[in-house]
Amino acid sequence: MSKTNNEKCSFCGKSSKDAGFMITGLNANICDSCTLMAYDILKESDPEKGNKPSYFRLTKNELPKPAEIKTFLDQYVIGQDNAKKYLSVAVYNHYKRLLQMPSGDDVEIEKSNIIMVGSTGTGKTLLARTIAKMLHVPFTIVDATVLTEAGYVGEDIESILTRLLQVADYKVDAAERGIVFIDEIDKIARKGDNPSITRDVSGEGVQQGLLKLLEGSVVNVPPQGGRKHPDQKMIPVDTKNILFICGGAFDGIEKKIAMRLNTKVVGYTAGKMTANIDRENLLQYIAPQDLKAFGLIPEIIGRLPILTYLNPLDRDALRAILTEPKNSIIKQYVKLFEMDDVVLKIDDKVLEFIVDKAVEFKLGARGLRSIAETIMMDAMFDIPSAGEQELHITLDYAKMKLEKANFEGQQVT
Ligand code: ADP
Repeated sequence: MSKTNNEKCSFCGKSSKDAGFMITGLNANICDSCTLMAYDILKESDPEKGNKPSYFRLTKNELPKPAEIKTFLDQYVIGQDNAKKYLSVAVYNHYKRLLQMPSGDDVEIEKSNIIMVGSTGTGKTLLARTIAKMLHVPFTIVDATVLTEAGYVGEDIESILTRLLQVADYKVDAAERGIVFIDEIDKIARKGDNPSITRDVSGEGVQQGLLKLLEGSVVNVPPQGGRKHPDQKMIPVDTKNILFICGGAFDGIEKKIAMRLNTKVVGYTAGKMTANIDRENLLQYIAPQDLKAFGLIPEIIGRLPILTYLNPLDRDALRAILTEPKNSIIKQYVKLFEMDDVVLKIDDKVLEFIVDKAVEFKLGARGLRSIAETIMMDAMFDIPSAGEQELHITLDYAKMKLEKANFEGQQVT
C-alpha cells in the first residue's frame, strides 16, 4: 500500500491529484472517500451474515447457553434466581429456534413469550433490559396502560412496534428479532374472571389486540406511532420472531393463589400439605389459572407459556443492590468522582442507613437511588470546584443531608 500521484480510484475513478489520499493495492486503488464509504458499509453489516444489521450480530456459535445467560444476569441483578433461570432458558430456546431452525422441518418450535409476576421495583425491567444488552438486539419497553382498543383514546396496539422500529433505526429485519418488554400487563386485566357483557375499553379489547402480536403475525406499524393516520405509510412487521416479555405486579393475586391452594388441599392430607406452604411468599406457587382468575383471558395466557415470579427484596438484597451489581449505584458515584480526580469513600454505616431508610419509606430498590442522590447532591455540586482529592461520607454527614432535605421539603422518592 502506498501513496502515488498518477493512480485512479478503482471505485469512483477519482485521480490521486483530486483525492486527499489514495491507497494502492496489487491491481486496484481506493481513494479516501471510497474507503470511508466502505467502512460505513462494513459497519452496517455483519461479515458472517451478509447484510444483517450490526445489532443482530448473534450467530449460531455465539448464542450463549442458558447457564452463561444466567451468569451474565447475576452480574447485574441481585437474587431472583427462579426468574433468571426461566428467562435464560426461554431466551436461549427463542434464539436457538430463530438461528438454527431448518426450514421445512416437521417439528416447528413455537415461540415462548414470557410473563413475570412480581412487586414493582424488584427487577423485572432490569432483567429484560440486561438480556437485550447481552444479546445486542433491539429492545424497547412499553407500558400496557397507554394501550387501548382501536377507535378509542390512547395508543393503538401496533404502536408497541413503532418504538421497536425506532430503536432499530427502522431496520425491519433487526426489529423483527428484537425484544419487547410490556410493563404493567396486569393493568389490562378485565375486572374479574367472567367475560364482560359490555365492552371493556381498557381490558379485554386490548388483550384481544395484543394476542395478534404475541402469536406472531404481520402487523402494519405506523412509523411515527400514535394513532393510525390515513396518509401515513405503514411498515409491515412480522412479529413471529419478536420475543415478548410481559411484567406486572398483579397486586392481590396472592389471594387467588391462596384460594386455589386451599381448595386443592382438601381431604385428610390437607393439614400436612398446607403446613408446608410458605405463606409469606405465595407468589412462588403462581400458576396460569391464577392469572385467569385475575382477569387475563385464556388466549393471552396461552401465548405467554413461560410464567415466573420475582421475590420481594429483603434488607440483605437491598444492601447487595447498593454495591454488588456491575454498575451498582455506589460504583457509579465512585466513578463520577474519579472523573474529577476525587477519591470517594463511603462508610459501611452509611450504606446500612440508606437501606434502613429505603425500608422505612417502603421505597424498595427504586428508593435506594433517590436517597443516595439526596445525600450526595451537595457534594456533587461543591467538590468539582473545591480542588479536594478525597471525599469521605460518614454516617453523621449522611443523616445531616437527609434531614436537611426533609426539612426543606424535598421529597425523597
Ligand atoms: P420492576 O420492573 O420490577 O418494577 P425495575 O427492574 O425497573 O423494577 O427496578 C427498578 C430499579 O431498582 C432498577 O433500575 C435497579 O436499579 C433496581 N433493582 C430492582 N431490583 C433489583 C435487583 N434484583 N437487582 C439489582 N437491582 C435491582
